[in-house]
Amino acid sequence: MRKHEEIREAVKLLCKNFTGSYWQEKDRDRIYPSEFVQALTDSGFLAVLIPEEFGGSGLGISEASAILEEIHAEGGNGGACHAQMYTMGTVLRYGNEEQKNEYLPKIASGELRLQAFGVTEPTSGTDTSRIRTTAKRDGSEYIINGQKVWTSRAEHSDLMLLLARTAPREEGLKPHDGMSVFLIDMRTALKQGLSIKPLNAMINHSATEIFIDDLKVSKSSLIGKEGEGFRYILDGMNAERILIAAECIGDARWFIKKSTEYANERVVFDRPIGMNQGIQFPIARCYAETEAASLMLDKAIALFDTNSKCGAEANMAKMLASEASWSAANMCIQTFGGFGFAEEYDVERKFRETRLYQVAPISTNLILSYIAEHILGLPRSF
Ligand SMILES: Cc1cc2nc3c(=O)[nH]c(=O)nc-3n(C[C@H](O)[C@H](O)[C@H](O)COP(=O)(O)OP(=O)(O)OC[C@H]3O[C@@H](n4cnc5c(N)ncnc54)[C@H](O)[C@@H]3O)c2cc1C
Repeated sequence: MRKHEEIREAVKLLCKNFTGSYWQEKDRDRIYPSEFVQALTDSGFLAVLIPEEFGGSGLGISEASAILEEIHAEGGNGGACHAQMYTMGTVLRYGNEEQKNEYLPKIASGELRLQAFGVTEPTSGTDTSRIRTTAKRDGSEYIINGQKVWTSRAEHSDLMLLLARTAPREEGLKPHDGMSVFLIDMRTALKQGLSIKPLNAMINHSATEIFIDDLKVSKSSLIGKEGEGFRYILDGMNAERILIAAECIGDARWFIKKSTEYANERVVFDRPIGMNQGIQFPIARCYAETEAASLMLDKAIALFDTNSKCGAEANMAKMLASEASWSAANMCIQTFGGFGFAEEYDVERKFRETRLYQVAPISTNLILSYIAEHILGLPRSF
């Protein structure tokens, strides 16, 4: 039985106001879906993971996953705002009382948007230890210099969680030592050394490049301890993997539903195309793959929400769900034939959107190498 039926119904109802033509228009002109994000914010859905004492609903990853899955199953795209749900986790877990009291209630109400997360750089994506952005301590401030790429939603965020080197890679015991996390107020930073350049991409994901030139930030922007930032970022990754997996399951369900409906309606050679096993079997296979990936997601969610170790399950759920959604996308285009390429059916948009999740926020290869090394005990490959 599906969990959180009430939440799912409420999300579905909200999504009815944002139909295919809404998403098509935004996608066509690469416009941020502000109205949709505002509606989600107003409904409190983006604050589900924030504890009640800070103004959120204090719910678990299970409810958050149900919300994102439904958005995608309805043909929408949570990528416009999913980070507002989980990026605050670093502040919640590692921020001091002052930082938590200052930021979390405003993030919960939507007064502050923490949508931007700056880790990837032009010369370091997968190998985070090679980032070149530096933050040098200067009295009561840090001076930050560097460049980030693919920073999603930076133009639609007030705050950014930024990873920078506070000590050279060579000085640490491990390659990932010496990196620190800063909570940057972009509203002031934009006038003082930070600039944002939109990056045109295959999907409407509000991707940007960020240039940072002698940006001075107060030392109170540092989250947690200097030099331990990578561990903090890593800690947030299980939540991110689970929530992205939920979006992929939603996408897969959308493709399967669309394909089934079309296969029942479209008549070729005087009979519905769905009468042909060549059309039926790919849909049935995608259904089975999606259900299997969804079970792994349920396992990861159950472990996460009971504070148990869930690295392996969160990674496997994300990998299997992103593969299920991509198979379903391919199957859907094939089922629709030529009309799969027409904007008005939404298939080509969703096809492009769901492809992202085998690359970002972590690529399938890296998940496989994690399973090989950390679960199976095979030799480290890099
Ligand atoms: C639309 C979009 C939005 C994004 N949003 C954000 C964001 O908000 N914030 C942010 O910080 N980043 C963001 N990213 C960046 C994303 O996290 C990176 O693209 C991703 O981590 C991969 O890094 P890379 O592109 O530099 O690939 P590279 O590191 O250059 O790797 C290229 C390919 O080689 C493979 N590879 C590399 N090393 C190995 C190895 N040892 N074994 C096997 N395969 C290997 C990788 O898996 C990948 O497939 C976004 C990316 C996209 C496309």
